[in-house]
Amino acid sequence: MNKNPNFQYVEKALIKILMNRFSAFLPQDDLRKIKECLSMSNFSYDLIEDTSLFELIEEGTGRFPSPLRSIFSQLSLSHEKPIPSYYAPMPLHEPFMTPSEVPPSLNTLENYWKTIAKEFCRFWSNCPDDAQVRISYFLYWADQWLSNIPVGSKKESVPLSVYIRLVASIASVIQKGEHLTLLMGDISGIQRYLFDISRIGGGSVAKLLRARSFSLGLIADAAAYDLLERLGLPVWNLVLSAGGVFYLLAPKGIDTFIEQWKKEINQNLYEKYHGTIVLHTSKTEVSLHHLENDFPSCLTNLFQQIRKSKSRSFEEILIQDGKWNEDVFIHPVNTTEEFCKSCRRYPADAGNKERICKYCQEDEKIGKLIPKTKYIVFHQRNGDISIFPNVSVSLIQEEEDIPADSKWIVIINQHPIPQKGVPIQQRWMTNYIPTAPKGGCNHCKEQGLFTEEGTPLSFNCLASLAKGKERIAYLKADVDRLGMLFSFGLRNKDERYTLDEIMTLSRYLERFFAGHVNEMLEKKYRNIYTVFSGGDDLFLIGPWNEVIEFVKEIHQQFVTYVGGNTDVTLSAGIEIVRSRIPLPHVTKMVEEQLEFAKEKPGYNRKLEGRNQIAIRRKPVEWGDFEKILSEAKRLGKWCLKGCISSSFLHKLYYFANMYQSLQKGQGSAFKLVPLLNDQIQRNITGTFENKQQEIENWFSQLLQIDVAEVRWKWAHMKLILEVAQLYRESEEEDSYGNQNIS
Ligand SMILES: [Zn+2]
Ligand SMILES: [Zn+2]
Repeated sequence: MNKNPNFQYVEKALIKILMNRFSAFLPQDDLRKIKECLSMSNFSYDLIEDTSLFELIEEGTGRFPSPLRSIFSQLSLSHEKPIPSYYAPMPLHEPFMTPSEVPPSLNTLENYWKTIAKEFCRFWSNCPDDAQVRISYFLYWADQWLSNIPVGSKKESVPLSVYIRLVASIASVIQKGEHLTLLMGDISGIQRYLFDISRIGGGSVAKLLRARSFSLGLIADAAAYDLLERLGLPVWNLVLSAGGVFYLLAPKGIDTFIEQWKKEINQNLYEKYHGTIVLHTSKTEVSLHHLENDFPSCLTNLFQQIRKSKSRSFEEILIQDGKWNEDVFIHPVNTTEEFCKSCRRYPADAGNKERICKYCQEDEKIGKLIPKTKYIVFHQRNGDISIFPNVSVSLIQEEEDIPADSKWIVIINQHPIPQKGVPIQQRWMTNYIPTAPKGGCNHCKEQGLFTEEGTPLSFNCLASLAKGKERIAYLKADVDRLGMLFSFGLRNKDERYTLDEIMTLSRYLERFFAGHVNEMLEKKYRNIYTVFSGGDDLFLIGPWNEVIEFVKEIHQQFVTYVGGNTDVTLSAGIEIVRSRIPLPHVTKMVEEQLEFAKEKPGYNRKLEGRNQIAIRRKPVEWGDFEKILSEAKRLGKWCLKGCISSSFLHKLYYFANMYQSLQKGQGSAFKLVPLLNDQIQRNITGTFENKQQEIENWFSQLLQIDVAEVRWKWAHMKLILEVAQLYRESEEEDSYGNQNIS
């Protein structure tokens, strides 16, 4: 095993990639400046010397710079390929990007390459001396400047920054056409553990929940980091990490080493999480040629191994020397001890007044740190969160507080680069949660309670911020058919796709679900709480009216983000409840809603679910959802202003039931129409400013039950009324069925 990667070799390969493009795209004058800049530095290399790796990876750059095509405009689940769309060449600015069908002009691209050259010189004349640190800064620089230009016209959807990162990790483990190990890790059981342990009522679970999901989300990175440390490999060899799954490149011939690492990690996980959370791994030794030309079969192989591993969890720990190790089945629990008031899983800390265990105390502390965190620092011991015996993590707000023993600094979102002589990496992360403002939460004050500034607001507090009825909404959403998109969807005309394409797609999704969602919450939806958001899914909780506005907007933006590709869609489930209903219960309910959205066809659909949102067990298309919301808002407003009575809305609900029977062939329209007409005559009377005509029209239109638009309204009437009644504060006389909602 090669304990020390040849960093000079790695750097040479990376600069070669850049120089290749500079030589092709830049005028002689600019090229000369670059060469001068390189030769003046302390660590200049003989760039004429070629590397064998380089011959294998570079297929020629072409003579002209090309634009970056959106990876979403390559995804297709049918034989039709979508219309190509492109990104403008520019530095990484914000997580959200809009592709355009009009590619940027050659002139724009050439000018951008001149900017890159200038920025590279600026970076190079100012970069750290330590080779490993310098390469990590270079990769960070590449993320900033090379994220919106492609590898070349052959890999037109892969940003140069992603390719450079992959080459860096390949060059760190092999030098010639040798083999390397591609390792896949999968941390399973996180969500189950998260909701199982969060049983505290009263909405105060908010204090711990984000901390818990945050810490659990770090397990995958920590496990990968632990292996890299043991192997003496740099952090960039973790080529992908999202949603608990990671890919890592390592040298060949390290099977026994990996088994030992995995066993120790799982032993730790077993002790801490009692068998709920498990690390599964799979690995394959591949040549560079194989990696580039036959990646789909590598991946199939890796997934098959993971599936097999999932069917025999913890075997490595439970079986020792071919025999069952019975000790591990017994967790030391002292029955006379009192259990933690919060999680009821671990013994209460005797020194704690509130009888809370040490884990819950740690989570309360972390919960306050998360929204202010700018850097996640990995070190060996004594951090804020201890994950494995040799991996500890600290959440840092200011650069000067970064501990001296830091080994790896993850810069969250777009905070400034710390100058600490330690390898860095940027990550998108949703770390926003609503917290008590200066002077404490008003809602709590009214209850005679005090919530300290910066403490996460409880779900009761969030409910008090809702319009109309004090309800919170749980929202769960994810990308439809993700597995298929990542394999079948990415294949080109030769039925191929490559690791850097997988990395690219994963990064774009992470950018949206972690980076963009965080921006939306920070800037606009400041009362919405993140349980988690990243990878390809999100789980948020907030005042009901803000959550429904948020989901409407995030869906519209997702459509824009993927360039309107109809194969890349989002489904969501919403559950609106009182804040005191226990989290695990509502979580199950909102998961059911999401399943409804994915499986049950909505109005006017015949077979398929997906690309829908489900609320109150009713899957509706996104367009219908927007219409339902605006109708509900309208009725809610009329009701609030006293233009129509709530008892009239109740009668309308009754008519909606009648209409449904009618659709099933029961009852008759002869009865419904006159009855409804009678009610309208009796209820819509009097004058309501200038609204009179509008209201009359809205209701009398309902009588024309043969008109398509009216049929649509009747089909969705119950949902419209259920949402409309949420706008009314009064808690009386709302009895539309489900007791959770009213
Ligand atoms: Zn506890
Ligand atoms: Zn409060």
